[in-house]
Amino acid sequence: MSRRLRTLLLLAPALLAIPAVVARPAAPSPAHERLLTLDTHLDTPASLAFPGWSIADPHAGDYTQVDLPRMKKGGLDGGFWAIYTPQGPLDAASTRKARDFALKRAVAIHAMVAANPRDFALADKAEDAARIAAQGKRVVYLSIENAWPLGDDPTLLQSFHALGVRIAGFAHFRTNQFADSSTDKAKWDGLSPLGVQLLAEMNRLGVVPDLSHSSDAALADALRLSKAPVILSHSGCKAVYDHPRNVSDDQLRALAAQGGVIQINSVYLKKGAPNPQREAAMKALEEHFPEDAALTPDAYARMLAERHEIDRRFPQTDRATFDDFMANLLHALKVAGTDHVGIGADWDGGGGVVGMEDVTALPRITAALLAAGYSEADVAKVWSGNVLRVLAAAEAEAAREAAGS
Ligand SMILES: [Zn+2]
Repeated sequence: MSRRLRTLLLLAPALLAIPAVVARPAAPSPAHERLLTLDTHLDTPASLAFPGWSIADPHAGDYTQVDLPRMKKGGLDGGFWAIYTPQGPLDAASTRKARDFALKRAVAIHAMVAANPRDFALADKAEDAARIAAQGKRVVYLSIENAWPLGDDPTLLQSFHALGVRIAGFAHFRTNQFADSSTDKAKWDGLSPLGVQLLAEMNRLGVVPDLSHSSDAALADALRLSKAPVILSHSGCKAVYDHPRNVSDDQLRALAAQGGVIQINSVYLKKGAPNPQREAAMKALEEHFPEDAALTPDAYARMLAERHEIDRRFPQTDRATFDDFMANLLHALKVAGTDHVGIGADWDGGGGVVGMEDVTALPRITAALLAAGYSEADVAKVWSGNVLRVLAAAEAEAAREAAGS
């Protein structure tokens, strides 16, 4: 299923039927406000491509989940802003197009920061996040979701690193030149030879290897071959919901042993009831408005109108809830430990559950962790300490390789 289609399926009914949920602020939480909070998978850069859409404005009813007013309301300090490219054919011309698409998306993220210098700042190193947040600004690291745009040249990652990319994932819903996808047929039995080269390039540059969306065998390859800890930037636990996008308890333990971190997703939390009419309507909408196509203001308005109409005709009634999300988070903490779990909820990419529809509800996570008996120091690790430790370890490996040691 495509990104946009999945987003529609998961989000649309609640947003249409009860718009108040979108803007409902969570209860004020001094503990939450004290914490440095980073989400490792923000698909929000896709919103930047919508005509007239600004991160500085409050939004409601347009299916987005992150903007500056809502980040402030939900106490989200920032995170890793994804350059997501939907997988297309692997021929040279398509791959060049994907490269340009990804570079333009990186430029759009930079333009967002440049247009809002009092509210956003680009982060370079792990140590930058706390300083930026202390200035009252939102933290912007970049990430790559789907390395397909790199073509057959892993060294192109150096250009993206120069643009601020600090986490990079190999594949998306389909197997590509670098890795088998968890949701497609295996071709490489894990990472391809080119994928192994890309992993080495990540280690050389100080980019954290992201195995979300890659197959179980690819994760095992990365855990074995990476010289620095790896991340699952937005994944969940098979023990809670057995889905290819989630990982087993054995994998969680292996990830923790390697020093890595799983960032808990708010997607793939439960099996939904089949809704074939809705799925067909969403598929048609997706074909009409491809997610990597630039939309005119007119087309954007038509797309939103059609989405609302689909929600009216074929509502989804069995969405996952905040409790389902917490079950995943608490299970990961129990199995991997408090040093190896964080948050990557897939906002603007299909994330969100009943009771946590957008980032304004994030204080609920802090409150639920404290209520479950975790200390504020543990919660601080979950909200940013662990991912920043992993990023610092990537930087240390890059420095070690640069020194030739
Ligand atoms: Zn994803």
